[in-house]
Amino acid sequence: MEHQAQLKDKKYRNWVKAGLGLKYVKEGLEPFCDHLVNQQHTAILDKVKRKHNLSTVTCGRCDVRTLQPDHIQTKTRQCPLGQMYCNCLHSRGKISCAKKVCGAIYDEIIQLHASTPPAPYWKNTDAQQWCTEPWSVAKCFINAPGYEHKIRAVEFDCAGLLHVLLNNIEFQQHIKCAITGTDVFSRVRMSRNEIFHSNSMELEDNAVNSYIDDMIELLKDKIEIKHRQESKAAVKKLQKLKQEDFIISTTDEAEIRRVAMAAVKEKEKELEQTITNAGNKLRTTAERERHDIEGKGLAIKSELEQTGQNIEKKLVIKEDESKKKLEQEGIEIEKQLTRKKVEAEEQLEQKLQESKLQLEDIAETKRQAEKSKQKVGNFIYYF
Ligand SMILES: [Zn+2]
Ligand SMILES: [Zn+2]
Repeated sequence: MEHQAQLKDKKYRNWVKAGLGLKYVKEGLEPFCDHLVNQQHTAILDKVKRKHNLSTVTCGRCDVRTLQPDHIQTKTRQCPLGQMYCNCLHSRGKISCAKKVCGAIYDEIIQLHASTPPAPYWKNTDAQQWCTEPWSVAKCFINAPGYEHKIRAVEFDCAGLLHVLLNNIEFQQHIKCAITGTDVFSRVRMSRNEIFHSNSMELEDNAVNSYIDDMIELLKDKIEIKHRQESKAAVKKLQKLKQEDFIISTTDEAEIRRVAMAAVKEKEKELEQTITNAGNKLRTTAERERHDIEGKGLAIKSELEQTGQNIEKKLVIKEDESKKKLEQEGIEIEKQLTRKKVEAEEQLEQKLQESKLQLEDIAETKRQAEKSKQKVGNFIYYF
């Protein structure tokens, strides 16, 4: 579609209007958020000063990924502040802040986080700026990527500002609206993605009007926002946006296209990161499983080898034992044989002796008988 024709297209004009609406909300909220963020930053540093009895709060050397928090995990290995992924749970390689500052700020950020369990978005923040840049602390409350290099309020978009308000316990006290997830603040925050991530760059009349009505309601929040000049000015702009004859300037249109383009690029980066992470996870898992299997294979192999060696050893021992046993038995048999032989010889000797004696007896008896015979013969001769 030709550009001029596109601008005449109602649905495309609606889409540009919704984008402009978000820009007006950001303008309306920016000074309010900046004020809260600065105030809270001062309060946090004061609290750290009192906690560790410090005269000044300076560091600029700590890295949030390796920072040792002030709090320590419980005996049951839980984070006492209720964080699911906390530096306190993995104390290996963590370094305490040399100035006793950053660990205490880390704890404060967790305690100020409004979600259950608390989940500060540490990837957005640079702890080296915690002592000097209030928004570097505030960024921990933006649960979305893309804010890594932003430091000043003016650099944050409507969704970023709303994240900060919604995810901070203290900031919620400055809002009348109850944050439930479907409240007007949450709806406007989510509309940013719905508008800028839409491929068609088109919106129906009722859709754009519903978005703008939400934006106006938000800026009329009763406690503080509605009383601020910037909010009032933004509401006026939003009301004009709703009028049928609203003229979209080419500058406005170009700006919204640029913002949408940046949002889409950000989304792309986020998706790429998700894909990379998933790929890495898969690779790590596969690698780990391969290692496991190889390890198990090696273990089984070495176990088998060991068993083989044991069997072999046992066989050798058995063989030796059998041999020894046989030898032993042989010796025993030989011994027995010798004993038997000796016994037999002894018996034989005895028998011989006995026979000899018997023979002698017989000889004696014979001699006696001879004598008796002679005597008898002599006797007979005399008669
Ligand atoms: Zn913890
Ligand atoms: Zn430090």
